[in-house]
Amino acid sequence: MTTDVVIAGGGPNGLMLACELSLTGARPLVLERLPAPSREPKANGLLGQVVRMLDHRGLHERLSGSPQPPQPNSAYFMFGAMGLDLSLLEDSPVYTLPVPQHRIVQVLQERAVELGVEIRWGHEVIGLSQDDDAVTVDITGPDGEYRLRTRHLIGADGAHSTTRKLSGIAFPGITYDRMTVRSAHATVPADRVDPATGALNVPGHGTVMPFLPHRTEHGGFSYAPMPGHPPLISTTEWDQPATDATMSLEELRASIRRVLGADVPLGPPDGQGPHVLRRLTGGNTRIAERFTDGRVFLIGDAAHVYAATGGGPGLNLGLQDAINLGWKLAAEIRGSAPPGLLDTYETERRSAAHRMVLSAQAQSALIAPGGDVTGLRELFTELLRDPDTVRRLAELTAGADVRYDMGEPEPHPLTGRFVPDLELHTAAGPVRLAELTRTPPSAERQHAVPLLRPSSGIL
Ligand SMILES: Cc1cc2nc3c(=O)[nH]c(=O)nc-3n(C[C@H](O)[C@H](O)[C@H](O)COP(=O)(O)OP(=O)(O)OC[C@H]3O[C@@H](n4cnc5c(N)ncnc54)[C@H](O)[C@@H]3O)c2cc1C
Repeated sequence: MTTDVVIAGGGPNGLMLACELSLTGARPLVLERLPAPSREPKANGLLGQVVRMLDHRGLHERLSGSPQPPQPNSAYFMFGAMGLDLSLLEDSPVYTLPVPQHRIVQVLQERAVELGVEIRWGHEVIGLSQDDDAVTVDITGPDGEYRLRTRHLIGADGAHSTTRKLSGIAFPGITYDRMTVRSAHATVPADRVDPATGALNVPGHGTVMPFLPHRTEHGGFSYAPMPGHPPLISTTEWDQPATDATMSLEELRASIRRVLGADVPLGPPDGQGPHVLRRLTGGNTRIAERFTDGRVFLIGDAAHVYAATGGGPGLNLGLQDAINLGWKLAAEIRGSAPPGLLDTYETERRSAAHRMVLSAQAQSALIAPGGDVTGLRELFTELLRDPDTVRRLAELTAGADVRYDMGEPEPHPLTGRFVPDLELHTAAGPVRLAELTRTPPSAERQHAVPLLRPSSGIL
């Protein structure tokens, strides 16, 4: 046996899993077909429960650059290009961390290396077969092809996952091929931005709030002034003629004119890139038929993808897949996993993925063009004055409504949910629970845990 776990894919989710496994003493090997970490602009940040989970691994501080614990967003968020007024809620479940994906990958890679993970850049998984004891993986690398045996193989190799295809796992779902999304980092004249609210003033149309996608009868428009970058400007339209032309700022300006019926004078982005300038046609919302096949497991985009309807659920789900699978697989490798523990990876994470499919489809329906959708949105606007409705949609968006089944007939309200950020009293003084879960428990700390007393009345 060459290694305990081979992870195909050194994207965010593969690297997160490698860190989780290493913390438990397992020996993961990451194989990444790219010669170096990708700088391709993808996610603009993290949304939802995963922001708090990263705090439980000390990664929130590295990503945010601040020792402060994550703070919920208590102003507003979006659902189907409609505002969720989070100020109606006593405790908002929506957490955001505006960090570009290439930086997330960089931080996870640094952490993995600190933990002793071997990452082989330029090594691509091209074949696999399984027997009762191991998976045999065929790889091509800079020095040619080779083969190794591992107890488990993880497909963290993205939406077009080779691991998923080689394992014969279908990827059913929906393709929204009528939709075209154009996005660019661009500058807008300073006098068009309200310094108090950050809203973009579009003469002839009105104001557009930052980070709140705006729908008209002709499509969608969004203005996202990301910290440290020029604003990210996007449009969504339906039934656009096919084109091979290279995407340009002029194409985005023309699209904005169609959507808003008014011009936004976009200038080229300034500052250091990489800068976004892209046109995406169609989008997929799919869940793998199975997340496991014998000794093979799928995580992240290899297991599920979502059309870009706002909010960015991809990393919220994928990183939590990695955290869910990591400790279970480690227990299996150590021989301490109770029967059936590994099976709970699929049941728990599939239910989370299904909630996101529901969210993506509902949001697609709410942003579609047409007068009937406008009527639906008027009704939704009324419903969104009700704090209970706002809470429900906020929890759905944040992935905070997922409750794992612990098999208890009458579970405590917190059973199966992610633990609140409790402050505990210890002999050394108060400590947040999130600070106690960053390294594996030592024998000394295991003794200390029963002495801890939650200071919150929540339990
Ligand atoms: C334009 C865009 C914007 C997005 N915005 C957001 C957002 O704002 N928020 C959000 O949460 N999500 C967003 N997403 C989704 C997010 O980027 C994905 O969910 C995330 O990248 C998935 O991570 P992953 O590690 O599962 O897969 P990937 O990031 O796809 O990584 C997979 C890795 O596997 C490697 N690989 C592939 N095949 C092999 C092989 N055979 N052998 C070895 N290595 C292989 C690839 O080179 C790649 O590095 C966006 C996506 C796009 C495209």
